[in-house]
Amino acid sequence: MRIVFLGAPGSGKGTQAQKLMADYGLQQISTGDLLRGAVAAGSELGQRAKSAMDAGELVTDDIVLGIIAERLAQDDCKTGFILDGYPRNLQQAKDLEPVLADIGQSLDAAVLLNVDLDILMKRLTGRRTCSKTGKLLNIHFSSQEEMDAVTAAGGELIQRADDNEDTIAKRLNVYREQTEPLIEFYRSAGLLKTVEGEGDIEEIYSRLKSTLGLS
Ligand code: AMP
Repeated sequence: MRIVFLGAPGSGKGTQAQKLMADYGLQQISTGDLLRGAVAAGSELGQRAKSAMDAGELVTDDIVLGIIAERLAQDDCKTGFILDGYPRNLQQAKDLEPVLADIGQSLDAAVLLNVDLDILMKRLTGRRTCSKTGKLLNIHFSSQEEMDAVTAAGGELIQRADDNEDTIAKRLNVYREQTEPLIEFYRSAGLLKTVEGEGDIEEIYSRLKSTLGLS
């Protein structure tokens, strides 16, 4: 299965993609994670991307296209993937088509995770990542046991540099102006599926699976 995840920052794309990856072996391809990796490694690409990321703006289309084309060409994507955070604007949606054609694949669905603005803010300001496993947690919503398990395993709860209030506001604006038009784009292509993204993570996951026809 090959899916694009649409949805605002904080809508739960990463969390739900990680669950699909664990249960169905679909590769989660997050351009945000790949870019953060490049920044952390200090590569030339990372240096070019860093200032836009720090400001909550989009990195240029050619940079992310290069990253996504390289990642999708890898063998582990042959059994299916979830694009988490790509495409982010109409140009990227158009750029994706020849990349998929080159590897002989096409999309099965574009899933929109629908979440209200006030909940997005809470999710983003509270979001933390385990330094050891990459697991996503939230200081407002995760249980004390989940938080304790991270520290007991020697991990740290890390807050993303761009999860501060100023940058969050900017990222939400970018989403509204540049990414939301993709909803119509994929609706016209007959690929759009909408999942209510509010409530318990497991409930959302059940809705997502039934929308995708997964048992
Ligand atoms: P994310 O982890 O998906 O929220 O992405 C974090 C940041 O990485 C975004 O605010 C952008 O600066 C950059 N980024 C991630 N994906 C893309 C993309 N498809 N196009 C442009 N910039 C991106």
